[in-house]
Amino acid sequence: MTATAFLHSGRYGAHGLGGCYAPETLMQPLLDLEAAFVAALEDPDFQRELQAELRTFVGRPTPLTPAPRLARELGIAEVWLKREDLAHTGAHKINNALAQALLARRMGREEVIAETGAGQHGVACAAACARLGLRCTVYMGEVDMARQAPNVARMRLFGAEVAPVSAGSRTLKEAVNEALRAWAGNCHRAHYILGSALGPHPFPLLVRTFQSVIGREARAQVLEAAGRLPEAVVACAGGGSNGLGLMVPFLDDAVRLVAAEAGGHGTDPGQHAARVGPGRIGVLHGCRSLLLQDEAGWTSDTASISAGLDYPSLGPELAALCLDGRVEALRATDAEALEGARRLCRTEGILPALESSHGLAVLGRLGARSVLLGLSGRGDKDLSTYQAALGA
Ligand SMILES: *Cc1c(COP(=O)(O)O)cnc(C)c1O
Repeated sequence: MTATAFLHSGRYGAHGLGGCYAPETLMQPLLDLEAAFVAALEDPDFQRELQAELRTFVGRPTPLTPAPRLARELGIAEVWLKREDLAHTGAHKINNALAQALLARRMGREEVIAETGAGQHGVACAAACARLGLRCTVYMGEVDMARQAPNVARMRLFGAEVAPVSAGSRTLKEAVNEALRAWAGNCHRAHYILGSALGPHPFPLLVRTFQSVIGREARAQVLEAAGRLPEAVVACAGGGSNGLGLMVPFLDDAVRLVAAEAGGHGTDPGQHAARVGPGRIGVLHGCRSLLLQDEAGWTSDTASISAGLDYPSLGPELAALCLDGRVEALRATDAEALEGARRLCRTEGILPALESSHGLAVLGRLGARSVLLGLSGRGDKDLSTYQAALGA
């Protein structure tokens, strides 16, 4: 398949965020990827296989859990939790990883390249590739490999190769650079599975489309359980994939949409990862979006207790929804997120991922009577952080 023009603009909102800022060598693979994606969505065989894998391998639909004891403590009438923590491998990442791995196989690719920060996306890709019989190489910064050793072990058990990245700060930003470089060198045999609604078009579109299963299920589940829509829909925002996945099916409804960003441990540059407000429009990793940068345009350092939210840019579609006023962005500090996690543990017996805890932390501030929260992942991976911080 050789495409010669994109079918979708890949631009979002009044500021034209998104786009495709990729090296010349990647343009044809990106054009072909969009064409394959559009064709797959319209192919009943692809849809049938995707639905079957989501049901029998991923464990969908994930439950919608009422949280009455949490609601009472927060002074909210109703809180509903969309339980992506119960999806296979422990977070929403598997929805996208599995769907893109199916797309890769359909395109005749034998190998998958991925990047990972905390390791959740890498584990999801490694699992999906094992399931589908694809070779998998995951690029990961050396610092993250040391911090997230159990996830490195999980990826290797699933047969993936974990490639250490030693450039720069040796974390996610450099891992993305390295994965893009590896893909450019091998794009006829390999597919690159990007882990969030980021990167050059068509990746943001692919990822939010495959993740929107979260919101489609949740919308139907909450209508059935409560008989009406919630006043507010809340999710944490790293790159924006679980947030968009939950919110996109509610865009045309009269509900408040809220993204919780990482407020870290301070408001100065380098102390947080809140892009809405302090961020300015710039280009990173192939797309134009809100970006934490200094006066000269250098990407700023970020800080967050949660690795999954610790990224200097926000995906272009979610950033556009924030700039255009449809999505409200709130911040939760490290301390507030820890408190949110402790409250959910004690009231409902659910250990949330540190990322999801940022969503929990803003619930009480909304003044809403009923809230749907996307619980993006489980907290087993964060146990040592919780122990150190909460003295558990
Ligand atoms: C990766 C991750 C996130 C952040 O990524 P998004 O693309 O913003 O969803 C949030 N929660 C969990 C559990 C994650 O693993």
